[in-house]
Amino acid sequence: MRIDLHTHSTISDGTLTPAELVRLAAEERIDVLAITDHDTAGGWAAAEAAAQEVDIRLVRGVEISTRHAGQGVHLLAYLVDPTYPPLVEALARILAGRNSRVPAILERLRSLGVDIDARDVHRVAPDTAATGRPHIADALVALGVVASRDEAFARYLSPGRPAYVERYAAPLTELIELVVAAGGVAVLAHPWGRHDPSALDLAGLADLAAHGLAGIEIDHQDHPAPVRAQLRGIAAELGLIGTGSSDFHGRGKVRHELACNTTAPESFEHLLEIAERTARASGRLTPGVAS
Ligand code: AMP
Ligand code: ZN
Ligand code: FE
Ligand code: FE
Repeated sequence: MRIDLHTHSTISDGTLTPAELVRLAAEERIDVLAITDHDTAGGWAAAEAAAQEVDIRLVRGVEISTRHAGQGVHLLAYLVDPTYPPLVEALARILAGRNSRVPAILERLRSLGVDIDARDVHRVAPDTAATGRPHIADALVALGVVASRDEAFARYLSPGRPAYVERYAAPLTELIELVVAAGGVAVLAHPWGRHDPSALDLAGLADLAAHGLAGIEIDHQDHPAPVRAQLRGIAAELGLIGTGSSDFHGRGKVRHELACNTTAPESFEHLLEIAERTARASGRLTPGVAS
């Protein structure tokens, strides 16, 4: 069984359409695939239609941009009812924050002498519902200013670089509760990835579990082996599900090929049990696994 629970399409900052993503996963003999675009369920319908044509089980999810103890934290929301009004509202607010940040970043780039405007960004990302720095990076590549997304982040777009602009992200604990109320399963994406993990230590994660957090992503490329081992210990101690996934972005991210990390079948079964329980308790109409 190959289970990959975190991937992106062109609906956020991946480079394959939702249908292409599902078809590629099926070709690569992945049994279970989750589509988890940033802050939007906009790719779900196309991914579901594609999943019905091939031999794969599709988990619909969203990777939500949240903030906790001053750090950006990504929250994977699986099998939520995407029509739950508070969730719709929370995602709309995050997407509005993404959109209002773009002109500010472009303004900074222009003040640094880079000739770029919104049309350059739209041209490289016509499908996206969640415009982000990766798209501005792609526009900089298309304009010949940098050679890669990585170089664009390193020179301009990462925190501390001259074109970095912050954006709104939702409070993590509120969003965990909201995901549960929407009948879904809340899993922290790459908790000890790029940021300072001190607020997400054993005590911090125990507190989040009390808010309804069901799992943590352990096997992820941003986690070196010793980090994975430590996180496995914490997950066992707190009774959290441990997942593994690629965080595939197509050509948008190197070293993140589909199923480069996977989730154990028992962990996936556990996730489905929790999904069933939260869906029932919430009274919401949740999507279930499509196949
Ligand atoms: P944003 O959505 O604008 O906050 O940008 C965050 C996204 O940029 C995340 O999905 C990351 O996958 C991506 N990202 C962050 N750093 C880099 C990098 N150095 N190279 C390519 N993508 C990156
Ligand atoms: Zn991304
Ligand atoms: Fe992420
Ligand atoms: Fe991601």
